Amino acid sequence: MFETLQERLGSIFNGLTGRGALSEADVSAALREIRRALIEADVSLEVVKSFTDKVREKAVGATVLKSIKPGQMVVKIVHDELVEMLGSEGSEIDLNAPAPVVIMMVGLQGSGKTTTTGKISKRLHEKRGKKVLMASLDTRRPAAQEQLRQLGEQIGVATLPIIAGQNPVEISRRAVQAARLGGYDVVMLDTAGRTHIDEPLMAEMAEIRHSADPHEILLVADSLTGQDAVNLARNFNERIGVTGLVLTRMDGDGRGGAALSMRAVTGKPVKLIGVGEKMDALEDFHPKRIADRILG
Ligand code: GDP
Repeated sequence: MFETLQERLGSIFNGLTGRGALSEADVSAALREIRRALIEADVSLEVVKSFTDKVREKAVGATVLKSIKPGQMVVKIVHDELVEMLGSEGSEIDLNAPAPVVIMMVGLQGSGKTTTTGKISKRLHEKRGKKVLMASLDTRRPAAQEQLRQLGEQIGVATLPIIAGQNPVEISRRAVQAARLGGYDVVMLDTAGRTHIDEPLMAEMAEIRHSADPHEILLVADSLTGQDAVNLARNFNERIGVTGLVLTRMDGDGRGGAALSMRAVTGKPVKLIGVGEKMDALEDFHPKRIADRILG
């Protein structure tokens, strides 16, 4: 695969051992390699830029200790900065609201939204002892509501009975009502996605948000999303206001740069990561691990 950043920087700084502080020129050479590594890891260009600006500030003039090589020191600066930008460890799903707590899942079609809705429901049920009701608001894809119903059966979580002809807002109202009457703790709303962001999708999400008043709005995104990650996150966040991110397909070959891009433009925490198709393949987010992976 790719050379690690350590290897790349090692060759740049080979001649430098023994100097007291990193000069502007040393750092500029290193930053070119850092930029390349981040772009290969799928970090969006605009985030690469703001990231390398921060690293430049910290690295220029930094004193190189005798015990470590300059390359190692720069890698450490980059790693620490990545961890800081990726944000806090273990941000749980927030259920701190009167029951039923509404959690709205948003994202593009194929991002893994329905699968993640099932995974989170199972986790809330098994690990936090919550009574969960799932509802599919995807009225456009005929099989979507049925897909969620089957998933519910598989994991032992209730789904809202399907009534043909209702629109997404009506279904969301019915879900909250049913949850209230049935004594549920959590309502998971699995919204419709599209292959790309468009105005009707955003208008529909805004309307559901308005009517269901969700406590959490989780943006589900494929971790293999490259340069589009920034647009995706910015659009959903500005228009709908997400409270957290879930990155799927972290079991793939990708380096997970989308996590950094999306976190950077929204300021919202990555709460969970999807690591497979199975209902248990959901993990907490660990910024250090993702930073290691981005750096290769
Ligand atoms: P939706 O259109 O956003 O609801 O997407 P789905 O939940 O239907 O998922 C689309 C495909 O991605 C399905 O085949 C899922 O099994 C798969 N998928 C979802 N999450 C993950 C993940 O974390 N890892 C892998 N490998 N596959 C996933």
